Amino acid sequence: MPESDTLTTVKPPFDVDKIRADFPVLSQKVHGKPLVYLDNAATTQKPRRVIEKVRQFDSEEYGTVRRGSYKLSEHATQMFEDVRQKVAGLFNAADKKEIIFTSGTTQAINLVAYSFGKAFVKEGDEIIISNIEHHANTVPWQVLCEDKGAHLKVIPVNDRGELIMEEYKKLLSSKTRMVSVNHVSNALGTVNPIKEITRLAHEAGAKVLIDGAQSTPHLKIDVQDIDCDFYTFSGHKMYGPSGVGGLYGKYDVLKEMPPYVTGGDMIRQVTIEKTLYADPPARFEAGTPAISQVMGLGEAVDYIQEIGLDKIAEYEHALLEYGTRVLSEIDGLNIIGTAAHKASILSFHIDVIHPHDVVTLLDQDGIAVRGGHHCAQPTMQRFGVSATTRASASFYNKFEELDALAASVRRAIKLFS
Ligand code: PLP
Repeated sequence: MPESDTLTTVKPPFDVDKIRADFPVLSQKVHGKPLVYLDNAATTQKPRRVIEKVRQFDSEEYGTVRRGSYKLSEHATQMFEDVRQKVAGLFNAADKKEIIFTSGTTQAINLVAYSFGKAFVKEGDEIIISNIEHHANTVPWQVLCEDKGAHLKVIPVNDRGELIMEEYKKLLSSKTRMVSVNHVSNALGTVNPIKEITRLAHEAGAKVLIDGAQSTPHLKIDVQDIDCDFYTFSGHKMYGPSGVGGLYGKYDVLKEMPPYVTGGDMIRQVTIEKTLYADPPARFEAGTPAISQVMGLGEAVDYIQEIGLDKIAEYEHALLEYGTRVLSEIDGLNIIGTAAHKASILSFHIDVIHPHDVVTLLDQDGIAVRGGHHCAQPTMQRFGVSATTRASASFYNKFEELDALAASVRRAIKLFS
């Protein structure tokens, strides 16, 4: 029996079929074949209770938040603040005031780059990112550096896609204002040593932002243990609605930061001459937020916590190992990103087929994967490719689906050989 077959016998720590039944979208057929959804790094599917929560809130409880003093609005405000508390609990933040709702990770990073940058970054300062960041954690810092005359420094990675920590240490200096790296790389799956990165940055006197878009659906996060100054997340990547996500920030740091977007809800008092700003988190939540989506996010947080992030991480790791094995057995396929610590992301390159063609052929077999640069062009440049095919697994995926992926890839290669 090939070694890969023996791995299917790993017993998941929960009933995967029962979990799959929670996700209505997964039971459909695509081109007559059962849907195999392996694009979870782009966006995750929603369990019925998240969909139902938003529907029920909109039909029975909807009201604006933080403004009305009538029952519907007061109730909606209470529920909204309860979700903030749930998110604080999920990440072990010291206080719910440290959680700011945004539209997602992109807006959260832009908020920090703009606001922290405006107050604390000056000409000649340095910002450090890594070579394996999403564009959302690259472009805002480039813009800040251009505006302020600051410099962007980049931590290089080795051929496995791991940050070279010795090089990182050399980049740190008294000029470093911010170190901003992802917890998990969306293009490669590398899990970065963020606790060590944070410790070293703090020793140099810099602040730290961790882009948690890819880690929050898979790993237990403890922001106090990491000790980072900022941590971001996106609801649509953690089984919740799109259009909502957020930023954790240490309260003492947030308190010193100016507003990013201004308008209603973020003020203490407005006169024509001058505006006094509200304290965080309101200072950073101008305008009417994504109220219904926040309710759905709260339900998603409950859902993943009930399954248990430890169990999720354990099972997804087994999927990663299995997927790595079955794909590695395919001639002509190279896995890009082979770090010792990885999340369940499998990026690969096939010499004879462009990733866009791979995606189209796999789609004919009902398999949904992503082909492209994954909004991480500097990562692609580092590995000498313009694009990869990426399969990203979630706890609702099964070992058999990875077999289906491998079989479909083999068929695609045969067609092109
Ligand atoms: N950072 C990483 C690592 C990502 O994978 C993504 C999305 O794919 C983002 C940031 C941007 O997240 P969003 O589009 O939810 O704002």
